[in-house]
Amino acid sequence: MVGKTDVLILGGGITGTGIARDLELRGLDTVVVERGRLADGATGNMHGLLHSGARYAVADPESAKDCIEENRILRDIASHCVDAIGGYFVQLSDDDESYFERSRRDCLDCDIDVEPVSVGEVRDDHPYLAPETERAFRVPDAVVHPFPLTVANAVDAREHGGTIETRVEVVDVLVEDDSVVGAEVRHREEPKTETIRAEHVVNATGAWAESVGAMARVEIPMRPAKGVMVVVDFPSLTTVLNRCRPAADGDIVLPHENTAIIGTTSVEIDDPDDYPKAQWEEDLMVEEAGEMIPDIATARIVRSYWGVRPLFGGTDVDLEDGRTQTRDFTLLDHDERDDRPGMTTIVGGKLTTYRKMAEAVANHVCSELGVTEPCRTATEPLPGRDNPGELGGALSEFGPLPPAEELDSDVIRD
Ligand SMILES: Cc1cc2nc3c(=O)[nH]c(=O)nc-3n(C[C@H](O)[C@H](O)[C@H](O)COP(=O)(O)OP(=O)(O)OC[C@H]3O[C@@H](n4cnc5c(N)ncnc54)[C@H](O)[C@@H]3O)c2cc1C
Repeated sequence: MVGKTDVLILGGGITGTGIARDLELRGLDTVVVERGRLADGATGNMHGLLHSGARYAVADPESAKDCIEENRILRDIASHCVDAIGGYFVQLSDDDESYFERSRRDCLDCDIDVEPVSVGEVRDDHPYLAPETERAFRVPDAVVHPFPLTVANAVDAREHGGTIETRVEVVDVLVEDDSVVGAEVRHREEPKTETIRAEHVVNATGAWAESVGAMARVEIPMRPAKGVMVVVDFPSLTTVLNRCRPAADGDIVLPHENTAIIGTTSVEIDDPDDYPKAQWEEDLMVEEAGEMIPDIATARIVRSYWGVRPLFGGTDVDLEDGRTQTRDFTLLDHDERDDRPGMTTIVGGKLTTYRKMAEAVANHVCSELGVTEPCRTATEPLPGRDNPGELGGALSEFGPLPPAEELDSDVIRD
């Protein structure tokens, strides 16, 4: 294993691999260490929506603007990881009409393309929608495949000289003269501990950022929130469907192979490695989605999976309910914040905005290390886009597929 690097990145989710790619394209040497396989955390256990931003336009317009910008970029640089199928926001008769109008208006203010459609038009393509459907508009939502996207970032980082270490866990962060200078890591498959020294360390461990921060003796208050996704046998769904109401449980349904994935909840938990997975959460998904698509309520449940959002607890927003917390990201400069130079932490955000998060971290690290190369990740295509075979070997090397990508072979039909 490499014992010394410019930037050591802790965590091999979409954020960590995205940062590695960005820094490698700017000429810095990087090592990513991930305790499991790539995308083992929230990344491989998310819903799969490439947000248009419409979901956030009313309550969090800054996040909405970031989403639409990044949605457009990813459709271009990572088109092989995106199903650009579009989505609808639908209002049922019990939903607040003024919220529907406000959503549509706020989307336009956030530069999100909104296409008004009549209920009749939507029904032509989606006859399974509830008879209570009263209004709808179309937005550029899409389905994103988090595993190939993460692997593509890792492959590009590696092609530019980076190192990706999986099944290697950070067990301590090295602090010398009050500065972070590297980390001690343990191989999970052999009883071996090693030291990696670095000019700078990036903590991209998501919901685990607090425990990794404690190793460097800095406090990072996290408010991790679990969410469930329920996969049902429902081959007819061809687009993303969102219930048009303030963010609530089970109001997004999207297609995956011949199934529909219903999500999700947001329930605060204490420990991202050990939290309850309750039947009521699954039942709630089916019940809520069934209001929008009645046939879903009787569809066969194929499986369920849970993920944990890396939400930061150190902001001023109202944290009473996980859903009122911003989905924006926070960069913690530990030199400025804690007098602990040599380490930066990135928390929060969404998969949709990972590239922008990575760019912010890379800008910060580059300015610390005196590197002036600009960011190129918004325009350079990811490996596999122009040559679909390019990722094949790496997908199996870093596999197996995480829960968000699992192929449910018993419902795959020709
Ligand atoms: C239920 C749910 C649904 C979501 N749906 C969507 C969606 O539809 N659209 C969207 O845009 N976003 C969605 N998100 C948000 C998105 O998934 C996350 O914001 C994103 O994946 C976070 O990526 P990350 O790399 O920061 O964190 P993670 O993917 O959690 O990566 C952190 C990594 O650090 C590793 N790690 C932890 N401790 C150590 C250690 N000591 N040593 C080494 N490695 C360590 C973990 O194993 C993990 O792989 C959803 C999230 C959840 C939970």
